Amino acid sequence: MPRLNTQILIAALLGILLGASIGLLGDDSLTKEYLFYGSGIVGNVFVDLLKMVMIPLIFTSIVVGVANLQAHHQARRVWQYTLLFFVSTMALAMVVALVASNIFKPGAGLHLAMFADAMHNFEAKQLTPADFFAQFLRSLFQNPFAALAQGNILPVVVFALFLGVALVMGGARYQHILNMMQEFLDLIMRMVGWIMRLAPLGIFALLFKLVATQNTELLTTVGGFIVLVFATTLFHAMVVLPFILYLFTKKSPLWFWRGAREALITAFATSSSSATVPITLRCVETNLQVRKNIAGFVVPLGATINMDGTALYEAAAALFVANLVGIELSLAQQLIVFCTAMIASMGAPGVPSAGMVTMVMVLQSVGLPAEAIAILLPIDRLLDTIRTAVNVQGDMVGSVVVDRLVGNGLQEPDSQANGVQGNNPDATS
Ligand code: ASP
Repeated sequence: MPRLNTQILIAALLGILLGASIGLLGDDSLTKEYLFYGSGIVGNVFVDLLKMVMIPLIFTSIVVGVANLQAHHQARRVWQYTLLFFVSTMALAMVVALVASNIFKPGAGLHLAMFADAMHNFEAKQLTPADFFAQFLRSLFQNPFAALAQGNILPVVVFALFLGVALVMGGARYQHILNMMQEFLDLIMRMVGWIMRLAPLGIFALLFKLVATQNTELLTTVGGFIVLVFATTLFHAMVVLPFILYLFTKKSPLWFWRGAREALITAFATSSSSATVPITLRCVETNLQVRKNIAGFVVPLGATINMDGTALYEAAAALFVANLVGIELSLAQQLIVFCTAMIASMGAPGVPSAGMVTMVMVLQSVGLPAEAIAILLPIDRLLDTIRTAVNVQGDMVGSVVVDRLVGNGLQEPDSQANGVQGNNPDATS
């Protein structure tokens, strides 16, 4: 039996291949219907299992990670490096998108009339950057029980950050709560190991159905834009991020790919960086050897706010829509696109097609018609695959880089049982 990550790779390739050949069965074949039905069920069960462990995992890993970082006086440095990494890689991704879109001008030759019906039936909500920001701010602080129950990740992350810091500030009397959280985290990771055994089957089913149900006629109409998004996203994934990784850690892209591929393929198949968190954490800790406290903080936070692929896509899509409606965006307008796409992608949750929702704001910020999203919706499931994979790649590269930058002043969780008590001057305050 090949190793699990080889099985996952084979399953992904087979899913794509068989999905692409399904047309050979003819349009109204019963086998085809059964195959769609079966792959739908298997794929959904796999994603549901990942979602089942996602919220408890994100919650405990942030509490434990932050508490231990804080106890070892590393929290501030990890925060700073992490945020700097997130913002600068997203900015680079958008520069790649804007430069390529200015050179190749996707959508310039297309006639808007072709999409008139789709646009007519689409009702866009007004979403100004100010509204969006206010909405985003309000969504950060919620009743944690409601947020946990509803799978609302951002408020869960915020509450876990507060709790992690409070555990350390409270000192030795809360040590047993921290120990319990650590035990709970280990338990959840054990369950992740079980779910991973289903990954090859789940990924096969998801990719089979995705490829088999694509509307090829539509894809060729906006083919130029799709090629541009795939090419620029791949450029970011294969040149920009590996270069940053090498610059800070001297690690090769091949080493990274070997350790990261389970998570990258899962992100590609599920289109959800949040649902992929359990697998991302496992890869980052076990294969890429990032210390648990750092991974436990950077990965869940990255899955919520670090979205290189989404930022790149939103910038490229704004220029595509501008070309389509025949508007030439000035440099100043492109700068506005750059800023709003940064906020919009940070605010997009790590779920399928979230980037589409927040993109309304990017279009409206430079006066482009938000209804144009109707043109992009049918191709979104396809483009979401690669942008989610790159979102997750950014989180993983970020974990390795931050781990390296923070250096050796951090103890591992095994020795943390006494960490809060022994190392924190605030502990008794
Ligand atoms: N699906 C993406 C993610 O989960 C978000 C997006 O729609 O861009 O990371």
